Amino acid sequence: ERAKLAKLRRLPAVTTDGETVELQANLEIPAELPLIAQAGAQGIGLLRTEFLFMNREDLPGEEAQLAAYTQIVEAMGDDPVTIRVLDWGGEKDMEAQNSGIAPTHGGPNPALGLRGLRLLLKRPELLEAQFAAILRVADRGNVRVLLPLVTNPAEVKQAREILERVARRLRRRGERLPERLPEVGVMIETPGAALAADAIALEADFFAIGTNDLAMYTLAVDRAEAEVSHLYDPLHPAVLRLMQFATEAALRLRMPVSVCGEMAGNPKLVPLLLGLGIRSFSMNAGSIPRVKQAVRALEIGDCARFARRVMEQSDPARIRELVTEFAEGVA
Ligand code: PEP
Ligand code: MG
Repeated sequence: ERAKLAKLRRLPAVTTDGETVELQANLEIPAELPLIAQAGAQGIGLLRTEFLFMNREDLPGEEAQLAAYTQIVEAMGDDPVTIRVLDWGGEKDMEAQNSGIAPTHGGPNPALGLRGLRLLLKRPELLEAQFAAILRVADRGNVRVLLPLVTNPAEVKQAREILERVARRLRRRGERLPERLPEVGVMIETPGAALAADAIALEADFFAIGTNDLAMYTLAVDRAEAEVSHLYDPLHPAVLRLMQFATEAALRLRMPVSVCGEMAGNPKLVPLLLGLGIRSFSMNAGSIPRVKQAVRALEIGDCARFARRVMEQSDPARIRELVTEFAEGVA
């Protein structure tokens, strides 16, 4: 079994009818880089930069960030590296304090407060330092920028303006930047962003659907909250309908769209996601072989028909049944 999965490393992620699927890795700490190479990931679809900011008293400066990004980008060669700017706030700064970032968990409802891009736009010096480090590494590989917890197209526009301003400043300083600035993508991880996806798409170069937060915010359930975690369900039709809406908005504009939440690493959910039109998945490196195995056994027409059946359902339990049945039928 292990040998079989190892052999998969060299095989392409292609469906039985020849549709190519992109399988990328999520990266939380640079120590996972060898795992990514082992898994045969086609780049990094989500680099969570929080690790740079955790458990320290001060902020990592531009140079420290540059060193970390350089290590990662050089390890990935020509494969894309999608660097998500700091997603601090909500539950994320409760576990890992950093006195260099204003405490953001003091408000009445941290998950709805100063988190992700909102925090960065309130503290633009944080975003500027991070953008500067990202821009300075952009020439060394295939670098993309990803913005967390967006709900409004104006936030994306504002972030882009800051990126352009930082680029002008670096060029004046004589830094070598690529002629074209890195693409700027948006995490679709709130119901607001999903339902405004058509408007947000006009400001974005790509979408990354974050199903972890999307499920939490859609169902108003924190899965770390034991009393309600039984209600956390990414297969709830409300979550799936939002994913479908956002995916279709992207596909209409021929804009790349990927899924990078936990759902993307579950082989049983591959038929549904392919059927919804997703062709790019980013997941923990360890999940790549099994997801690739699932992709290689599927036909797109079957997946599309299956997804249509699923999307007609309104009962989460029935959807779960259908998903299990389909997975067992194919396996
Ligand atoms: C998500 O919310 O699905 C996601 C990928 O981001 P994170 O898990 O880092 O919040
Ligand atoms: Mg998220």
